[in-house]
Amino acid sequence: MTSFQAPSGTRDVLAPESARIELLVASFAAACRRAGYGLIISPMFEDAGVFRRGVGDESEVVRKEMYEFEDKGGRHLALRPEGTAPVVRAYLQHRPPVPWKAWYVTPAFRYERPQAGRYRQHHQLGVEALGTDDPDLDVEVIALLFDFLRDVGLTRFTLRLNSMGDGVCRPAWVDALTAYLEAHAAELCPEHAETWARNPIRVLDCKRPQCAAHRPEMPTMGRFLCDDCRAHHERVTAGLDALDLAYELDPFLVRGLDYYTRTTFEFGSDALDAAQNAIGGGGRYDGLAGNLGGPETPGIGFASGIERLLLAADAEGVLVVEPATEVFVVDLVGGGAARDLTVELRRAGIAADRAFDQRSMKAQLRQANASGARVALIVGEREAADGVVAIRPLRDGGDQELIKRTDLVGRIRELLH
Ligand code: AMP
Repeated sequence: MTSFQAPSGTRDVLAPESARIELLVASFAAACRRAGYGLIISPMFEDAGVFRRGVGDESEVVRKEMYEFEDKGGRHLALRPEGTAPVVRAYLQHRPPVPWKAWYVTPAFRYERPQAGRYRQHHQLGVEALGTDDPDLDVEVIALLFDFLRDVGLTRFTLRLNSMGDGVCRPAWVDALTAYLEAHAAELCPEHAETWARNPIRVLDCKRPQCAAHRPEMPTMGRFLCDDCRAHHERVTAGLDALDLAYELDPFLVRGLDYYTRTTFEFGSDALDAAQNAIGGGGRYDGLAGNLGGPETPGIGFASGIERLLLAADAEGVLVVEPATEVFVVDLVGGGAARDLTVELRRAGIAADRAFDQRSMKAQLRQANASGARVALIVGEREAADGVVAIRPLRDGGDQELIKRTDLVGRIRELLH
């Protein structure tokens, strides 16, 4: 007999862990709404060209990790490996008024080697803002992620910031970097000794010792920034300073996707191992809309990995979700009281649960305790006959009390407030 398992690199998330994800998503949604971002829901799969042209054929994500397939109509499609290119594709298709600010929550699919904190289907929270290259928008977007991480309860994280320049100044830097790498190719790590020419910028953030040893000598973007890019960068850092958002300038922060221009940033959890400590990152991508065949449209965004946020929250001991059930009804009169009371309480906005199958009082009370409820309501023959309910505190101490059925909801509200 075959017994099926979730595919390698994927996982099922059941309650109570999934309640933490609900909380993350709700908190992110609220932060986005406060900042004027609207939810976008777009397809899980796109024409593969959206990613090939948008993210870049030479990026690792597209070259090695993308789930591509042909559908029954012969279309060449890909499951989204990231969230930005689809949003820009949707922008170009619908042309909403700018600045257009959108947020999303989405699975992302990447054929990576599964390990702790690295999945083949992971989940991202993100925003994209299109239509202006005002550096204050960069600050807004970074502040949104910063404050969200703090709202979740995380404190041990570091924001790193860099500028990748633009079409005016980046080519001179890439030339200088290419010349340097060509001269030192044999000394690079085995992978980059082979592949540096394909994507020279990626060598900058290679953590292997052979490449890292070249960091002091490798040309970085800062020296090449044109006046416009430098002014942009200075306005961003001034904004972060004004808002008291601590950051480190990191000339080696280049990130994995090819479309970034100017501002790039990454949030790393100091509570996680370095290999999987990225809890969110993003940047400006002023060339992406053009790459997708649309008019040049500046944009900026970020994505934050839900699984990584959970790991960071575990490491910091935050994001602890209380059980939802507030009241548990113990019914010793055949189930009808539990049936009616749970619905009545839920209609009054109180989270109520019950046992089924007419189990013994002991078994029902055990279930009540396990549910995390604050109080049990007990209805036996006597209570049913007298039109009352016994309220027994489960967690906060105190005595059992009898209350008239008609006064029940008011009394429960007082006890739970
Ligand atoms: P990226 O688009 O690569 O910048 O990814 C955005 C965020 O998603 C990262 O900062 C991580 O938090 C998370 N992430 C990326 N790849 C994975 C993965 N394979 N498994 C889990 N989380 C991931």
